[in-house]
Amino acid sequence: MTTTPCSEAPERWFSTTKADQTYAIAGCRRCPRMQACQQDALDNDIRWGTWGGLTEKARRKPLKRVKKSETPAACGTSTAYWRHVNNKQTCHVCDAWHTAEVEAGRRRALAEEHAKGGSRRGYEIHRRLREQPCESCRRAHAQMLADRRQQRARTLAA
Ligand code: SF4
Ligand SMILES: [Zn+2]
Ligand SMILES: [Zn+2]
Repeated sequence: MTTTPCSEAPERWFSTTKADQTYAIAGCRRCPRMQACQQDALDNDIRWGTWGGLTEKARRKPLKRVKKSETPAACGTSTAYWRHVNNKQTCHVCDAWHTAEVEAGRRRALAEEHAKGGSRRGYEIHRRLREQPCESCRRAHAQMLADRRQQRARTLAA
């Protein structure tokens, strides 16, 4: 996953001081997830923090407007998916969309780990994708296990 600006300084996204909020909004504006993030926050009626460039206060306004004038978003979109989740509905179109999104996200994250030459995280992602980890990720994982064993042995010896 690409890191989002908010993941680097989360406290500023949950702060209510003007300075922090200005900082957070600027971060959101250069975030590739801004549109989806804002929509998710509105759809899920998230009360705290800055999301997708909107502070708590700013969200309250669009929220009312969106709710009143909203024509339901088409299935197979983030908006529709979260609406179903909120209303506890099952929708095969949106479920399939979401599964594909999750998978695509994992593939992107895995590609990043491979660009670094394979990693423990890559190993976990392979497993979540229900596939055999590649050689370099497997090696990174084995290395971690070996390190842990060594550490345990050291602790016991101490
Ligand atoms: S748009 Fe969302 S994901 Fe991106 S920085 Fe803002 S809060 Fe974080
Ligand atoms: Zn749907
Ligand atoms: Zn791999």
